[in-house]
This record gives sequence, structure tokens and C-alpha cells, in this order.
Amino acid sequence: MPLPVPPDMLVVSEIVSPTLVGDGPLAGWRCAVIRLGGCNLACTWCDVPDSWDGSRVELQVALVRRLVRNILEEALSSSPRLVVITGGEPLLQQRSPGWAGMLEFLNARNIESEIHTNGTLVPTAETADLAHRFVVSPKLSHSGEPTWTRLRPDALRAWADLAATGKVAFSFVVRDRMDVQTVASLAGIHSIPSEIIWISPEGSLPSRISEVTTDVTETVLLHGFNLAPRISPLSVSGSLPV
Ligand code: SF4
Repeated sequence: MPLPVPPDMLVVSEIVSPTLVGDGPLAGWRCAVIRLGGCNLACTWCDVPDSWDGSRVELQVALVRRLVRNILEEALSSSPRLVVITGGEPLLQQRSPGWAGMLEFLNARNIESEIHTNGTLVPTAETADLAHRFVVSPKLSHSGEPTWTRLRPDALRAWADLAATGKVAFSFVVRDRMDVQTVASLAGIHSIPSEIIWISPEGSLPSRISEVTTDVTETVLLHGFNLAPRISPLSVSGSLPV
């Protein structure tokens, strides 16, 4: 259900500043994270259910409508050079007036913006123009989502087209080498260049991440992909950007 957002306000789950980018080509970079509320998927292993899952949290308490200027004031309190805008699914709010204002504010101050999306929504022309970078993370079958909700051909075509600008990286969470083969099939079907694909081993514990990394590395190299072990900035603050 669309979230009613007054002008110049966005629905926020949390803001973490500073923290580290959790996945994608800039994994490990210092940043601030603005996590927006609401998602159009319900992945079984989602590590940020507080941002969307009304069966686990009281969303009227967990999500807050905030003025964009207040969101930015908190996010920029640690003077980051990079702001990750994630969710939930942040592009659910890309038509809110506050959205463009937030990106324009960052651009005016030479602060990079990186939007992390599940890849199911087509970016507006304004979104595509204003953001510095997109990390598009389509979900595989282990998310528990049916194919028709997690892989939207119109959206994937739009992201693949936008990739020609150099603004787009794809990030896939995998559990084993067979998942990497699935990514290779999707890349072929949707014309996604292998060099802009980052493979992210699933897991929250270092032992599990290490196990998956060992299993998938050879297949990642075989297909010309990149590997981005997930960063757990728990010693810094807050939770992982997804
Ligand atoms: S798309 Fe991301 S935020 Fe939404 S349910 Fe899946 S993992 Fe969670």
C-alpha cells in the first residue's frame, strides 16, 4: 500500500552516521545510511524487517515521517562524503517531493549519493539523473519471493539500459555456487554486463560468510563477476545497509 507522504517529508526507518557500506562495489567505504521505510517484497531472511514488516513491529512507531532537512542534518552529522539511501525499498518514495530535494541537496554539497534498491521498480528520469550511483540487488529464489514479484522484466531492462551511463552496479546475495550460475543466466537474459555484477556471500556470522565465499569464488571468477564480502560494521554502529 502506498505510504502517504506530505511534501518535503520522507518516511524513515533509521539513520546511521557514520557507518560502512555493506555490499556492492564500495563495500567497506565510510558513509552515512538513510534507511527509508516500506518495501514491496518480504524476503524471508530480510535483516531489516523493522523497516517494513508490520507483523513484527508496530510500523506506526518504527517508521517516522520526517522533514528532509532534518533527515539530512542527522545523516551529515559525521561529515560523510557518501550517503547510502536504502530501505526497505527506497524507490517507493521516489515520487515524493522530498526525494528530489534530498538528492539535489547532496549534489549541491558534492556529497555522493548511492541508492540501494531491490531492482523491481523503474527509476524515474529525475532519480536516474540526480543520484550518483545505484546498487541494484535483485533477489534470488532463496528470498522466498515468487519470480514474478522479485524479477520484473521492465525494471531490469531499465536498470540494464541505465548501466550504460556507468551509474549502476548489480549485487546478488548468494548461498552457493549454483546461485552464481543462476546469476549468470539472469545476466544473459537481461543483458547485464558481467563486469558490473558483484556477488555477495550470504550470512551474518563470519564463519558462514567464509564458508560461502570459499564455495563460490571459483565460479565468480569463471563468469567474470566481482566478489564483495558483506561488511558487518557492528563495531561502528547500527545495522547493515542492504
Ligand atoms: S527487498 Fe530488501 S528490505 Fe525488502 S524484504 Fe527483501 S531484503 Fe528486506
